[in-house]
Amino acid sequence: MGTHPGRRSILARAADIVWPPRSLLSDRIVDRPGAIEAPLWAELRFLARPLCAACGFPFETAAEDGALCGACTAEAPGFATARAALVYDDHARKLVLDLKRGGRRDGLKVFAGWMARAGAEALTEADLIAPTPLHWTRLLERRFNQSAWLAEAISRASGKPLAVDLLTRRRRRKSQEGLTASQRRRNVEGVFAMNPPAGRVAGRIVVLIDDVFTTGATAEACAKALLRAKAAKVHVLTLARVVRPVDVSI
Ligand SMILES: [Zn+2]
Repeated sequence: MGTHPGRRSILARAADIVWPPRSLLSDRIVDRPGAIEAPLWAELRFLARPLCAACGFPFETAAEDGALCGACTAEAPGFATARAALVYDDHARKLVLDLKRGGRRDGLKVFAGWMARAGAEALTEADLIAPTPLHWTRLLERRFNQSAWLAEAISRASGKPLAVDLLTRRRRRKSQEGLTASQRRRNVEGVFAMNPPAGRVAGRIVVLIDDVFTTGATAEACAKALLRAKAAKVHVLTLARVVRPVDVSI
């Protein structure tokens, strides 16, 4: 955020000359930025149908279109759908951490392509693309919001307008690390608020972008804030999704 695109591309091109592109999953040199060597590419676990129609949880056996998982049957989420490109495993974890802690941008275009495919239905009907916000204190520490980078790349890939400041964090939440699903929900409750003017989302379909869907607590809190501001529908689209609770180690 905040970097002039023209200036960035010149810097990026200069960087390519000095440092050859490296694989997103290893340190090996590859032919172009954002590439992954074939053996590692084959190990990526892309999420595919059958999925829970609401939260996108993958079913092990065939299921009818529109089938819901146990959790969504018990309590329908506020968001209409959540979709993710990858299962959050060791490879996905490296991609996410390089992006979020390392500020590595050379995978963004590739990630946006994967995510656009996973969220094709949501993006088709979308009016706006919005990132999950970071609290400004965290933004100052880190100087970027990886969700905003992903949202920007998806906006470019889909042609749908980006609203980068649609949501804001009212307070900084404690880290979600080591919390159970219900603790995570409580931890993010009331954290997200609409940035005025709320009229920006009234009657519109919003696709909310984040790096990882863990328990869905953050997605749910953001969706609620958008729905309170009269959004017609909220979809969630992430790069990766935790599939078993034991995978949680962000
Ligand atoms: Zn579900």
